[in-house]
Amino acid sequence: MVADMATPDLDEFVAAARAWLDDNAERRPESSDAHTPDETFSVAVFHALATDDERALLERLKRWTQRKAERGYHAIGWPPEHGGLGLPGAYARAFSHLEREYVTPASHEIHSVTTGLIAPTVRIFGDDEQRSRFVDRFLAARDLCCQLFSEPGAGSDLATLACRAERDGEEWVVNGQKVWSSGAQFSEWGELIARTDPTAPKHRGLTAFVVPMDAPGVEVRPIRQMSGGSSFNEVFLTDVRIPDSLRLGAVGEGWKVALTTLGFERDHSDGSGGRVGGSWRQLLATARAVGVTEHPVIRQQLARVYSHHRVEGFVSRRAADQRRAGAEPGPEGSLGKLLWTEGMTLVSDVVADVLGAALVADTGAPGTYAWGEHVLGAPGYRIAGGSDEVQRNIIGERVLGLPAEPRVDKDVPWNEIPR
Ligand SMILES: Cc1cc2nc3c(=O)[nH]c(=O)nc-3n(C[C@H](O)[C@H](O)[C@H](O)COP(=O)(O)OP(=O)(O)OC[C@H]3O[C@@H](n4cnc5c(N)ncnc54)[C@H](O)[C@@H]3O)c2cc1C
Repeated sequence: MVADMATPDLDEFVAAARAWLDDNAERRPESSDAHTPDETFSVAVFHALATDDERALLERLKRWTQRKAERGYHAIGWPPEHGGLGLPGAYARAFSHLEREYVTPASHEIHSVTTGLIAPTVRIFGDDEQRSRFVDRFLAARDLCCQLFSEPGAGSDLATLACRAERDGEEWVVNGQKVWSSGAQFSEWGELIARTDPTAPKHRGLTAFVVPMDAPGVEVRPIRQMSGGSSFNEVFLTDVRIPDSLRLGAVGEGWKVALTTLGFERDHSDGSGGRVGGSWRQLLATARAVGVTEHPVIRQQLARVYSHHRVEGFVSRRAADQRRAGAEPGPEGSLGKLLWTEGMTLVSDVVADVLGAALVADTGAPGTYAWGEHVLGAPGYRIAGGSDEVQRNIIGERVLGLPAEPRVDKDVPWNEIPR
């Protein structure tokens, strides 16, 4: 990359970042590089923690983000007006590689949702007051904001959602139920998509809001999942009153707002390494530790994972280039998301062969039984943010230009769709 006058040299940036990290965080012990199967080894996709421990982890993560925000390291690609450094992706990638050499709090999905999905959505759709009230707070994780999109009757076909918002003077009154709302129990705010015009076709009668999660009538009930934790929740909204000043975007524009947030969710162009679950390097280190790298079948499987990992890296670089050239995240993000979830599934399959019974029976050897947290968590991301099948539909229709699925209810008023 050729640096322009305003862009610091990458080496100088790295040197300054290293000095800052030395002053603000502990270096990882030489023996532990986060790939070595030792006691600190983690391949968890979701946290399986007691609520108080998860809250404490989030507090540490928020404090760390706020510390980085003092220097703009929390938002390296964002413009200075939002506290960022306005630098290209290579700088963010360099910082994130460097950061991995230090002991920092583990990532958490509600933190990534707030900073990576909702902050940029509010920046696009918020009015001046909303932008100055929320964007920097969300970006620096001073407040957390969950996604209140899915409902028991609306997931892949999100536009059929039924949660109602009815206008009452300068306020809206919301009634309905959301589900699978990740991190809602820890969030101060929620990005809500609600139906404001039931007589319009399903995509056109929706409006977005930013809802205070402590408003009277909001009830959050955590759901226990098979990995042991409670990452997501049911959220019940009963006569919740929201001022019109918290409406995000125009009335009836909620679908556009939702698609924008989902676009950021599917966009894997940042290459920041903030992915969850076991990595290629952790898998290889595990295979070495177990002593199976000479096995011909395992070697073949490891080569498949490596090739997949490389292809995924190239696709993410291409998306990063498109973003740098000014393109907003689009349907190609589905390709990155699909490759990511397929890669996670492949890692699950291969690690099961590498470890055999040690995956399900704890032998006490570090970095073996721990892989259960990857294997049990990975399927969640094949569903979250749009399932694999839905990503394939998007790629087929909007990237490859194949004939569209029949959509018989597309132009029918929502309240006339049989359900
Ligand atoms: C870990 C996790 C975190 C989540 N976090 C949030 C969150 O924070 N906020 C939120 O609002 N939601 C969240 N969700 C919900 C998620 O967005 C939905 O689960 C997802 O959109 C699928 O919807 P559904 O569960 O209703 O399944 P359904 O839509 O009922 O799908 C069932 C099956 O049918 C398939 N299918 C559906 N339609 C088609 C089609 N047209 N073509 C081919 N196959 C199809 C699907 O692929 C799936 O296999 C989360 C989900 C998970 C797993």
